[in-house]
Formats: sequence, C-alpha cells, structure tokens
Amino acid sequence: MTPFQYQRATDAADALALAGAGQCRFLGGGTNLVDLMRQNIETPAALVDVSRMPASIEQEGDGGLVIGAAVRNSVLAAHPVVRARYPVLSRALLAGASAQIRNMATVGGNLLQRTRCAYFYDPAGSRCNKRVPGAGCDAIDGFSRNHAILGTSPNCIATHPSDMCIALAALDATVHLCGPDGTRHVPLLDFHRLPANDPHIETVLRPAELITAISIAPNAAAAHSRYRKVRDRSSYAFALVSVAAGLDLADGRIRDIRIAFGGVAAKPWRALQAESILRGEAPTRENFLRAADAELAAAKPTEANAFKIELAKRTMAAVLGELTGAST
Ligand code: SF4
Repeated sequence: MTPFQYQRATDAADALALAGAGQCRFLGGGTNLVDLMRQNIETPAALVDVSRMPASIEQEGDGGLVIGAAVRNSVLAAHPVVRARYPVLSRALLAGASAQIRNMATVGGNLLQRTRCAYFYDPAGSRCNKRVPGAGCDAIDGFSRNHAILGTSPNCIATHPSDMCIALAALDATVHLCGPDGTRHVPLLDFHRLPANDPHIETVLRPAELITAISIAPNAAAAHSRYRKVRDRSSYAFALVSVAAGLDLADGRIRDIRIAFGGVAAKPWRALQAESILRGEAPTRENFLRAADAELAAAKPTEANAFKIELAKRTMAAVLGELTGAST
C-alpha cells in the first residue's frame, strides 16, 4: 500500500477544509476504497475520514426523507420509515454484501463504490481502461458473464455494483453535494456516467467535492415497491440482474410506475421506455413482457452474457407480477 496521510473530519465544513484542493479522497466505511488501496489501484496521497460525521435520517414536512451521507447501510435498511414507505430501498440494502459490511458501509461510500470487474482488480496481469486510460479492455474478449449489456462502449463493459443505488434510481433520489464552489443537488440518475470514451470517469463529482446527503421525495409508487436480485449464490454476491420497481394502481390501470435495473449497465439503469409503455395500461404479464422487450431492445451483449436479456425481462415481469398479483 502506498503511504498516505489520514485525518478525521468532524463535519462537512471541516472535511472540505482538510481536503483542500490536493490528491485527497474522502473515506466512508472503507469497505471498497481500502481494498483498492491495498492493491495500489487507488493511491490517494491523503484520506479525510468522514465516516464519523453527524449522521441522521430526517423526515421532511411533505413526507420525504433526507439521509445523511455517513448513515450506515444497516441503519438505513432498518429505519421504520424506510421499511414502511420505501420498502424497495430497505430490501435493496439488505440484498447487498454481508451484515458485517452493511454495518460499516456508509450511504455516501455506497454511491461511490467501484465496479467489481475482475480485470479492473488485476493490475499485474490485465489491461483495463478504467484503471489505466487507453490501456485497452481485456473483458470484452475475455470472461464477460457478469458484464454489462446496456449503455456499453468499445472501451468498457463493466457493471455498476451497488444495490442501494438501483433502488434510489427507481425512487428518483437526489444527491446533495458541497465543495470548493459551493453546494449543489444532482438527480441520482445523472450522478453516475456511462463509460463512453472515458470509463475512468464514473460520476459527475468534482475534485474535493463531498456527498453530504441523499433526499427522496414522497411518491405513491414508493410505498408499493420491491427489489429482486438474481445472483449466482444466495448471499454476498453481486447481481447478475436486479430489478427495483414500484407502482401505483387506480381503477385497474397503472397510474404511476418506476423501474430500474441493476447488473446490466455501468450505472443504475432506469427503464424509462418500459415505464412509458406501461403507464395507463392494465397490469398484466403480457404488458409487462411487452414493455421489457422494448426496454431491452437496445442491449448489446457478449456471447457470454446474452442470457441477461431474457433474465432481465423475466425478472422485471416477475417483480411487477408480485406487486400486482398478475400471474407469472
Ligand atoms: Fe476495465 Fe471496464 Fe474493461 Fe473491466 S470492462 S477491464 S473495468 S475497461
């Protein structure tokens, strides 16, 4: 591990002052960043520990939530308001990692965890554009069973690893940031980037900018929501495909619907096309599969991960069937 400086921040203002403008990284629970530092994939000159800053989950007057970035994943999953009004978020958090890791991992850190592409974690033996821009991508002609099928580029086919972020994408969450240029709010759907020509740039976060909170506005679909994760083993594994969905029915029709996929792209994949097809329609399995077909039409799989197209369609139809009672 490359030597680094370590300092602990007491609040956001302190964190920004300690970070300065240098080669600093903010440290949450460290459950991904420290692994990357041990392998010299990340080599920050300094860490500012923000994991012990005040962390709260506040209810807004309109029924929304503001979740501090230092809130631990396990605390957020167990919060009674999250379980009652945003079950998709609680279930997604509980589907991630292990109990020990959820106790350490913070909400802010979860947003910034990096892909688990095996070639990315092999600096000694593999080419990776995300690790070394311009080096090439050994996954494209290599072992790509777990890789992306949507939004890929000739430079990277990695997937986004978070479960929490898939639920937050379906909930239209907002990321609160503060940095040297002040504060700003970014929709979660715009926070992560697709790989395009520069897969090493994964978010819109600016240098020395700190995630301070996530907010979720109230909506009727959130209370009637689910998360399903399909993976190779039943715990402590990343998603082959996951689906976060919520819907609001009125008079036997879909009044509002939110669907996001995990395990299929470099960022949480909001299924806007499928949502638009289903809004106003009857909640039937035929309609769910028709909408899933349209959403997955743009998929560009490798030979090894083409199965994800059918898996994504069936998982989406199954989750919506569970929410509506439509036969699967
Ligand atoms: Fe690197 Fe992306 Fe290729 Fe994986 S898929 S080796 S992360 S460039």
